[in-house]
Amino acid sequence: MEDNKKTLLEIEDLDVIYQTDLETVHAVNGISFSMKQGETLGLVGETGAGKSTTALSILRLLAENTGKIRKGKILFNGENILDMNKLELQCLRGEKISMIFQDPMTSLNPVLTVGKQIAEVLELHNQKHLSAHQIEERVDEMLRLVGISSERKHDYPHQFSGGMKQRVVIAIALACQPQLLIADEPTTALDVTIQAQVIDMMEKLKSQLNTSMILITHDLGIVAEICDNVAIMYAGEIIERGTVYDIFENEDHHPYTEGLFGSIPRLDDETDRLKPIKGLMPDPTRLPEGCKFSPRCPKCMEICKKEQPPACRKGTHEICCHLYRKNDEK
Ligand code: SF4
Repeated sequence: MEDNKKTLLEIEDLDVIYQTDLETVHAVNGISFSMKQGETLGLVGETGAGKSTTALSILRLLAENTGKIRKGKILFNGENILDMNKLELQCLRGEKISMIFQDPMTSLNPVLTVGKQIAEVLELHNQKHLSAHQIEERVDEMLRLVGISSERKHDYPHQFSGGMKQRVVIAIALACQPQLLIADEPTTALDVTIQAQVIDMMEKLKSQLNTSMILITHDLGIVAEICDNVAIMYAGEIIERGTVYDIFENEDHHPYTEGLFGSIPRLDDETDRLKPIKGLMPDPTRLPEGCKFSPRCPKCMEICKKEQPPACRKGTHEICCHLYRKNDEK
């Protein structure tokens, strides 16, 4: 990424919990990252790593009764989203930051035509004071952009396949030309051939509209294809980050990232066996002391069980692991 691009989003020391009567779930534990305009950031990790909670926090969409942002800042264009009032949040959501959820089947309203659903977001954020006719034209344009004939705007979601529904969801998300698009596992619910088409289309649209994107996924293949930078999350922390080159070409990695790469099936692997990461993600209500990955780490040392590993930096590449302490340039 060019350094002269403006910083769009800056997250500082974000800490999010889910509080119930019985327990406290530590979902996001003091993460910080920033991204520039036009950048695509891949947020990677297993289920329960805190990726979706991070995304929901950005839009202040955490469950009202249980989700709590305990500390941190989320600066969007320099303004702290956590200080915004209801009206400011309404202007932000959909207009400046949009989100695509995992499952297109549940993202669309079954009783409204897809055209009406795209028009709705344009009517709600009608900053340019578009007339009804202009909104209609914009609906047609958005449908064409995502590869759907504008004649189908009168159809209902059940008349579309899963891949087509996700295209409609993308059209809704991009209708107001947001500065940031958060895509939370946008292809998980789709079959493999459709996944490739949707990812290809999102990439084209993103560069056409100069939208920044946070892509939440556990699929490293997709990350390699479309991301500029990558942050790997584990147990609510970012344990490794860097450019896509740092993550895919460097030999040094956090043992968890090594495990993620090791569990990708390879055609040239003669053993014919997958190498899963042993064990499970720790219970977020009782996170271990020191390194959160220590109970599963094949390289665990005594210090790992007591001390939180520092962030060790080499250029743009940062790894939070005691193994790399000597390499730390700081
Ligand atoms: Fe493994 Fe220790 Fe590094 Fe954690 S800090 S990943 S336990 S080597």
